Formats: sequence, structure tokens, C-alpha cells
Amino acid sequence: MTLRYAIIGNPVAHSLSPRIQRMFGVQTGRQLEYEALLAPLDGFVRMLRAFFDAGGRGVNVTLPFKEAAFDWVTSHDEFAGAAGAVNTIVVAADGLRGCNTDGIGLVRDLTINLGCALRHRRILILGAGGAVRGVLGPLLGASPDCVLIANRTSARARALVERFEDPRLQVADPAALEEPFDIVINGTSAGLTGVLPDVPVESIAGSLVYDMVYGKNSEPFRNWASENGAAQAVDGLGMLVEQAAEAFLLWHGIRPDSTSVLRQLREER
Ligand code: NAP
Repeated sequence: MTLRYAIIGNPVAHSLSPRIQRMFGVQTGRQLEYEALLAPLDGFVRMLRAFFDAGGRGVNVTLPFKEAAFDWVTSHDEFAGAAGAVNTIVVAADGLRGCNTDGIGLVRDLTINLGCALRHRRILILGAGGAVRGVLGPLLGASPDCVLIANRTSARARALVERFEDPRLQVADPAALEEPFDIVINGTSAGLTGVLPDVPVESIAGSLVYDMVYGKNSEPFRNWASENGAAQAVDGLGMLVEQAAEAFLLWHGIRPDSTSVLRQLREER
């Protein structure tokens, strides 16, 4: 029997998730369908309900519905609970369970694919939206010395820091940053409109600079970072593949080989 999965978002046509999940399916011998479903902004819950009523087995959720998914499911995993946002829905014995695999995806990309240990590191994060909310739990769980958050709207950064109540997590004022960080993560969507987020060059000297955005939209920020002293500047394709692998593991009980899928996607770009 073919198992049905989907990613629901708005917009969603650009998503690589169908490609990645189908590659995992072929690799592990699972017969599955995985489609991208565009939900109207006021029709997300209706679409979710119809998908699961028709026998759907799992859903990925993307912008702008991660918080709505959190409110709709019956239970949450630890990371979705901390973030208040769900990117993966799993059919469980007691109903639909909301999970968040974004943070595990980022941590696996940094530590396994890029070989960058997080323990005792100083991390600066730009942005305080849903993606950053989703990654903070797993990032803090990897024992960095500190995680500073700088956001265009500082009240949003403050709200995040208050939500997580962890002394290592603090709000940063970009204008006051003078020291370099080991890792600088761009979790803003500024790149989607070709804008550079506000961060002083002193912060990125010798750093690993990571843009959660992937592909062409990440180029302006990565180029700026490389030209201004970053040791390495990478995009978020690895995070995308790793969060997808984690979702696949939740749905199918098998961890797919994400390395070969990431290599293939990079070769094609
Ligand atoms: P979101 O909730 O809409 O948040 C957007 C964030 O970007 C906010 O902090 C916002 O600041 C900031 N921002 C937007 N335009 C800006 C600009 N021109 N200058 C400075 N800051 C700006 O979006 P999200 O869900 O967090 O997603 C953020 C990005 O991460 C998206 O591009 C998404 O594609 C990417 N992402 C990648 C992965 C992956 O697997 N690689 C997973 C999840 C998300 P304000 O608070 O001031 O508005």
C-alpha cells in the first residue's frame, strides 16, 4: 500500500521536501507519495483535517503555519513544546503528534556534516522568528557557552529569551557587538529579498557563518561574510536535508542516509 505524506505551506511550490522525501523512500525501499500542498492562508486546518481523514500518514508544515499546527495537534514532542511551533506531524496511538525537527536538523548539519563542535562555543543568532524559535532547544542542548540573539525587532528577541529562561541565552544589540563569535547563524528571511541583516564585521572574524536560507538567496550574505573575514560561510541546505531525515525517522522508524542525498543535491546545484 502506498503511504501518503505531504508538506503544507504558502508558498510551497519551491520546496525541496518532496524531492528529498522521495529520495529517502527509494533509498529505504518505502513505497510512498509525498506532495506539496498549497493551503490558503485561512484554510490550513481544513486542509490538514482533509489530508488525515483521507488516510494521510504524515505532514511537514512550513511557513506560515507552524504555530497553527502547534495549536491543532493533540500532543507535542519536547522540541515543539519548547518552540511553540510544529514542522512535522506524526500519526500516534492517541492522535496526531506535533514535532519539531528543525533544531535537530541544524545541530546535525553543524556537528556531523560540517564537523563543528558546539560545546563551549559562543554563538550569535540573527533573527527571532519561527525558525530560530525551533532551533534554540537543540542548540542549547549541545552545551554552547552562550547564545546571543540579535533581531531587527528587539522585542521579539526579548520574548524568545524570556520563553526559554536559560542564562546562556541573551539578547544582543548589533551596534554593541565588538568580539568575534565562533558561529554566526543567520536565521532571518532577509536574504529572500536580497537584504543583508545587520551585523558588524567584528562579529564574524574567523567564524563559521551559517545561513539557514539555502541556494541563491543565501549568496549575498555568504559572499559578504567571506569577503569580511569569516572562516567559512555555508547555506542551510544541510539543515533542510537533516530535518527531513529526522521527520522520515519519525514516520518510518528508519534513519535514511542523509549524506548521500545532500551530496547529490549539492552536485545538481
Ligand atoms: P519568520 O518567522 O517570518 O521570521 C523572519 C525573521 O527574519 C524575523 O526575525 C524578522 O525580523 C527577520 N527579517 C525579515 N526581513 C528582514 C530584514 N530585511 N532585515 C532583517 N531581519 C529581517 O520566518 P522563519 O520561519 O523564522 O524563517 C526564517 C528563514 O529561515 C526563512 O528564510 C526560511 O526559509 C529559513 N528556514 C530554513 C530552514 C532549513 O531547513 N534550511 C528551516 C526553517 C526556516 P522581525 O522580527 O524584525 O520581523
